Amino acid sequence: MKKINFSAGPSILPEQTIEETAKAILDFNGSTLSLMEVSHRGKDFIAVMDETVALFKELLNIPEGYSVILLGGGASLQFCMIPFNLLEKKAAYLNTGTWASKAEKEAKLFGEVVEVASSKPDNFTYIPKDYTIPADADYFHITTNNTIFGTEILTDLDSPVPLVADMSSDIFSRVIDVSKYALIYGGAQKNLAPAGVTFVIIKDEILGKVSRQIPTMLDYRVHIENGSMFNTPPVVPVYAAMQTLRWLKANGGVPAMEKVNKEKAELLYTEIDRNPLFVGTAAKEDRSRMNVCFVMAEGYKELEADFLKFASGKGLDGLKGHRSVGGFRASIYNAMPLSGVQALVDAMKEFEKNNA
Ligand code: PMP
Repeated sequence: MKKINFSAGPSILPEQTIEETAKAILDFNGSTLSLMEVSHRGKDFIAVMDETVALFKELLNIPEGYSVILLGGGASLQFCMIPFNLLEKKAAYLNTGTWASKAEKEAKLFGEVVEVASSKPDNFTYIPKDYTIPADADYFHITTNNTIFGTEILTDLDSPVPLVADMSSDIFSRVIDVSKYALIYGGAQKNLAPAGVTFVIIKDEILGKVSRQIPTMLDYRVHIENGSMFNTPPVVPVYAAMQTLRWLKANGGVPAMEKVNKEKAELLYTEIDRNPLFVGTAAKEDRSRMNVCFVMAEGYKELEADFLKFASGKGLDGLKGHRSVGGFRASIYNAMPLSGVQALVDAMKEFEKNNA
């Protein structure tokens, strides 16, 4: 039986995504050729790109005036592409974790950066809320879900300046109002596809305002004008993304995902709060629905390795926490069924009986 995959990313994907992509790798659309060996400019692959972009627009309810592009380079390349394309004088950043810090670091190469608030002194256990966004900033950057620390911004913030959001690890997990954002981006390897493709959703009118020269490959306008085909796109991850989005649509779309994601998170956090052996690491009001971080409670610390071994014996994989938090991290993205979370909760209860 397949293990239950709680890895933070690359991570669990719908079976349909894996099976259909595997089939296309052997024979793409009955062509007898592999998806890996056909031209990205052939009509069959152009149809894949078009459907993927159309599903993004439909499932996220993306308004007119926005473009969706699919690029290489990971979310990390966006850390520099964003300031390259948008930062003329000053940008504001909210520092909520390792990835937010990395995004901020790149922006400093391009202009003045105002860090409006940071939870770093508390090891990023919460999302700062009391801060002022400078009204003269070119944009305000946030990381909606902090994959490593298990905190999440679960509302669409109001910003007086264009709002830019890294949604690498929570895109499609809850209903968002795209019109509140100027740019949303993320690596695909959590809720969408294998690593290799990066999505960027951009409000067209924010582009073309900086005075610097932008290298062709780093200019969003080039990729928009060329329908993400300026150079060869990552064809296999794009195909897999299309399959995940078909699966998402067939399963009720983002509202249905949000409903189950709330149930899954509640089930697991309730057990963490009840079970005397475990304790959650993130502030309760900022708990992520995607990455649930917890550690052994005081008095049980020496059982950490035992629990990992016990869970692994039950087929629960990828639960080891990131080194900067320790303990455990259960990543429960869209493709994780409620039954997978239930299996983890059952293991925690059984471990409590054996050890308390
Ligand atoms: N942002 C967030 C929130 C992430 O979780 C990650 C990867 N774990 C990244 C950015 C970096 O993504 P990539 O590896 O695609 O560059």
